Amino acid sequence: MLPPVTRTYPGYIFDLDGTVWLTDRLVPGADRAVAALRGRGSRIVFLTNNSVGTRATFARRLTDLGVPAGPEEIISSSFVMARYLAGQAPGCRCYVIGHDPLREELCAAGLHLCDRPGEIDYVVLGVDRDFSYHKLQTAFLALRAGAAFVATNADPYCPGPEGDLADIGAMIAAIEVASGHRVDLVVGKPNPYILGWALKALDLPAEDCLLVGDQLGTDVLAGRQAGIAVALLLRDPLVVAQLAGWPTPPDFGLAGLPDLVVGD
Ligand SMILES: [Mg+2]
Repeated sequence: MLPPVTRTYPGYIFDLDGTVWLTDRLVPGADRAVAALRGRGSRIVFLTNNSVGTRATFARRLTDLGVPAGPEEIISSSFVMARYLAGQAPGCRCYVIGHDPLREELCAAGLHLCDRPGEIDYVVLGVDRDFSYHKLQTAFLALRAGAAFVATNADPYCPGPEGDLADIGAMIAAIEVASGHRVDLVVGKPNPYILGWALKALDLPAEDCLLVGDQLGTDVLAGRQAGIAVALLLRDPLVVAQLAGWPTPPDFGLAGLPDLVVGD
């Protein structure tokens, strides 16, 4: 049994998929909880491993679902990937397997798209619902020719409106098995790197923030590594079943997001 949240934090980092929304509908109580915390003066960012949107499209979807948010309040794995590569190798040539929002974030950061294997600096992988043999082969040839391999996240599955959806993990494995090249970097959770961007956006230290998520292997692990307290939304029966044997449990448990709103 995990303890309840008993205080209001200056900052909250909300996971999106499975915590705030299930793609096209809100998790019950998310709108009320976020509005109440904002009403108490807390700062909020939304953080997601999902690379299928830009900061702007995720902010618009949240707003349309009844949780008003601006693009500056969204920290997505595609945004963080673009910032990472722009810092590491300005103007580098990227072969992107993923959807257009990932390309848009990379191009906005001054990076170049390239599909000629011998000229590619980075194979950049986001989840791709049109993953194909041709894409696998291009990545394989690029890695053989010396490119680095980076991925937005490594989740095996993610929650969808009609049930769970296969995610990027199997695509990473396919490229690794073919090329013999292990992924060099995954920027999304559980890498605390992405949380560094969330703290920067909140302009608060780790100890003033609470991370609210629904997965042990990403949210809880990332929060632990970044020194941020974590409240786990007990929504997914698979996660609840894993909890008993989990070596680094979350700080708090939530039956629903309104449990975040405590005291007067
Ligand atoms: Mg989640």
